[in-house]
Amino acid sequence: MKYLPIFTNITQTKCLVVGGGEIATRKVSLLLKAGGNVTIIASELSDSLKRMYLDKQIKHIKKTFSIDDVRTYSLVISATDNLLVNESVATAARQHGIAVNVVDSPELSSFIFPSVLDRSPVIVAISSGGASPVLTRLLRARLESLIPSSYGKLAALAERFRSKVKFEIQDSRLRRKFWEDNLQGWVAELVLSGREEQAAKQMQKNITLVNRKKPGMGQVYLVGAGPGDPELLTFRALRLMQMADVVVYDRLVSPEIRELVRRDAELIYAGKERNKHTIPQEKINHLLARLAKQGKSVVRLKGGDPFIFGRGGEEIETLMAQGIPFQIIPGITAASGCASYAGIPLTHRDHAQSCAFVAGYLKDGTIDLNWEQLVVPRQTLVVYMGLLGLPHLCEKLIQHGASPDLPAALIERGTTKNQRILAGNLKTLPLIVNKNDITPPTLVIIGSVVSLHKQLAWFNPIDT
Ligand code: SAH
Repeated sequence: MKYLPIFTNITQTKCLVVGGGEIATRKVSLLLKAGGNVTIIASELSDSLKRMYLDKQIKHIKKTFSIDDVRTYSLVISATDNLLVNESVATAARQHGIAVNVVDSPELSSFIFPSVLDRSPVIVAISSGGASPVLTRLLRARLESLIPSSYGKLAALAERFRSKVKFEIQDSRLRRKFWEDNLQGWVAELVLSGREEQAAKQMQKNITLVNRKKPGMGQVYLVGAGPGDPELLTFRALRLMQMADVVVYDRLVSPEIRELVRRDAELIYAGKERNKHTIPQEKINHLLARLAKQGKSVVRLKGGDPFIFGRGGEEIETLMAQGIPFQIIPGITAASGCASYAGIPLTHRDHAQSCAFVAGYLKDGTIDLNWEQLVVPRQTLVVYMGLLGLPHLCEKLIQHGASPDLPAALIERGTTKNQRILAGNLKTLPLIVNKNDITPPTLVIIGSVVSLHKQLAWFNPIDT
């Protein structure tokens, strides 16, 4: 280890920054954020520094640097583009045993700045020891996406309860378990979704439950898994999948997405194929409730978005009726996933100003749509579950005034490496589809926007 990572308290510490340009400005902002008392030696100040000076946040000595200037400071930063000045700042500081950083010159510095991810009071600092600042920045960007932006609030809540928990849960093993459960379970999710007071109440309740040795009530997260490509999961969905005790999933949830579930979580297949519901909906509703009552964190993973032809509403009605806490995490619905990956904009200034999502199949196998409302100019129609009824659908639209030449496409297994697009119009699409072997799921898009797909195609896993 070339450098020792430490976190230094610089509140009220006298800090000197030599230089008044953009880089100096960034360092000054950082020092101020940490409570430093900052003086700048520079002949010129950047506009931001001038503002800070006028606001009395910093002091400014307008002069060129000379070696005696460092004396009264505990921390010195040289941020000029003049090598000689940088060297003399470094030498002067070292002579007086003062910590010094010369920007972009680790060889002249006694300390270097890490790349910082600020979720105060949680701070993540990353360094490559000066080897590659870009690499550390990339790494930081990755962590940005892993650590929710309101993580600091979680730390603040933990701090608020720290002594209370210590006092009320005497057994240190139980106490550790308590923190592990609460900092990644329901309490954490409440904080991360902005409900801190509710989280505090829940934490209080959980303390009482630990002492009574009772398992608490579990929760259900209704999570949208998107249309297939795992990259289209939300951060939230991924986080919950990785902390769940049980995951109840549908056929639409791709194997690549299931791979991302925590290794030791129990996986329950809930089926959902037309006419082949492995577990009837009613039973799924009650299964979720039962698992939660056993104190488990249950993720109900559904294809696309849970509230778009996903029967999410029915599932939460049961949970509500039984007083089980739940959250709903939206996902990218098949319409937007497939449309994007097929190069078909759902709206377009020259083609469509509205877009309707319809189900092309009812529980009893019929289609009952308000055809007049669907056959309107400049509207895109997206049909979910439309494969079986496709001939009927196209026929009805034509009967109600749609042009037989209206472009239409079927997107098979959209967003996945098996995506295929069959395009035609209202007259030809059923015939084209009939001639091909089709593997569900498929989505039908109808409207003049479909004519753009050849021109805008960018994702072509299979050449057709
Ligand atoms: N809640 C889901 C829809 C469930 S209904 C969502 O928001 O996407 C199931 C229908 O969604 C399928 O019959 C099909 O029409 C469509 N669908 C889901 N994923 C799809 C995909 N990857 N490619 C094409 N169609 C898809």
